[in-house]
Amino acid sequence: MRLSRYFLPVLKETPADAQIVSHRYMLRAGMIKQASAGIYSWLPLGYKVLKRIEQIVHEEQQKAGHIPMLMPTLQSADLWRESGRYDDYGQEMLRITDRHDRDMLYGPTNEELITDIFRSYVRSYKDLPLTLYHIQWKFRDEIRPRFGVMRGREFLMKDGYNFDLTKEDALHAYNRHLVSYLRTYERMGLQAIPMRADGGPIGGDYTHEFLVLAETGESEVFYDSEITDLTFGDREVDFDNVEQCQAVLEEFTSRYARTDETHDEALFNEIPEDRRRVARGIEVGQIFYFGTKYSEAMGANVQTAEGTQVPVHMGSHGIGVSRLLGAIIEASHDDKGIIWPEGVTPFHVGIVNLRQGDDETDAACEALYASFKALGLDPLYDDRDERAGGKFATMDLIGLPWRITVGPRGLKNGVVELTSRRTGESEEMPPEEAVKRIAAIYEGV
Ligand code: ATP
Ligand code: MG
Repeated sequence: MRLSRYFLPVLKETPADAQIVSHRYMLRAGMIKQASAGIYSWLPLGYKVLKRIEQIVHEEQQKAGHIPMLMPTLQSADLWRESGRYDDYGQEMLRITDRHDRDMLYGPTNEELITDIFRSYVRSYKDLPLTLYHIQWKFRDEIRPRFGVMRGREFLMKDGYNFDLTKEDALHAYNRHLVSYLRTYERMGLQAIPMRADGGPIGGDYTHEFLVLAETGESEVFYDSEITDLTFGDREVDFDNVEQCQAVLEEFTSRYARTDETHDEALFNEIPEDRRRVARGIEVGQIFYFGTKYSEAMGANVQTAEGTQVPVHMGSHGIGVSRLLGAIIEASHDDKGIIWPEGVTPFHVGIVNLRQGDDETDAACEALYASFKALGLDPLYDDRDERAGGKFATMDLIGLPWRITVGPRGLKNGVVELTSRRTGESEEMPPEEAVKRIAAIYEGV
């Protein structure tokens, strides 16, 4: 993309009403624009990152054997009356009446709809296990939407639902989700720690929230500092292998890590004092096994091998896709702007032309641009007729992890400058070498 033809409405001033850094930078970098309280338009740059995050979620879900689909945003109230949640959900649910006076709602989550789909088609244990998921907009009429996309009213969520014959099978699905989430967040450059969470009104021990540590997080968390040494890395996991998934779950959940809802001071105090941590975190996902709550209420039964009818065991598993943009920025920025991890960056590399209109400099930039395109990479070329300082400030603000600076002085010696956004370190090298370096960086991403 050429910046002269892009739509990147960056703001010079810090928006007064944005309280946290991710919200400020998303507004300043022209990523989002508030449409009304807690509802945002995704401007091109923000939309691009959102799509990259979605893509990672899709890839990792499908590696785990989960099947993508799409359910609507608007749902009929009838299904929610069946499950009993229509009245329980309260004011967070946006209720709508259509022209025929039918009660509708903008889905805050999809257990009812997916259970209805399941019961309409699936009859036999032979069709299990089954995990379906989608990435769709949700609406929750939050009392206090704030922090930009972190706590919106309309927000994008991946929600997946497993259907299994037995509790044991459903717990394998739970473990499988935990494992796939670990890899998902790491690919986004995040450490998200699975923490024992509260089952809420449904109860039960089988729920973990994934939290990214950040001072601005809304949740108070308590953990054993050893947990932050764990990384999933690129280990191979066979998602059908029950023992393997169980082992990963144990590795990542055996140390103390809880939200304030489940915190147990006595247990916490058993950890050596120098390892006890009290901090804040951003919830970027949650996994949940809830058994037969919905299948019993809505009659989602399957026939067993013995010919009896049993309610199917279910769980639901969410990732806060749009919230993740905020979480990533909270975890990765400096006083100049965002620092995107390579896995989610909107453009792979920025090209800054220091002397727009100078034939040789223009030609060198065009050649770099073409080389990246030919490699299937996505460069952003700042070809505007602007001062160097302004171009650098924009690049720093929007946070591309790599920048190539091209000017007449360097070109005289046959070199351009390659700069890391994270370290600020620059290195001079021939343009072809810079292309090779960038290509190598993104090979494994
Ligand atoms: P919270 O406790 O933050 O209100 P939740 O536990 O009610 O969230 P879930 O039902 O677990 O949310 O939804 C799955 C994920 O969706 C959450 O882990 C979070 O990342 C994201 N999410 C939930 N509510 C919002 C919101 N209002 N804005 C943006 N993302 C959200
Ligand atoms: Mg949650």
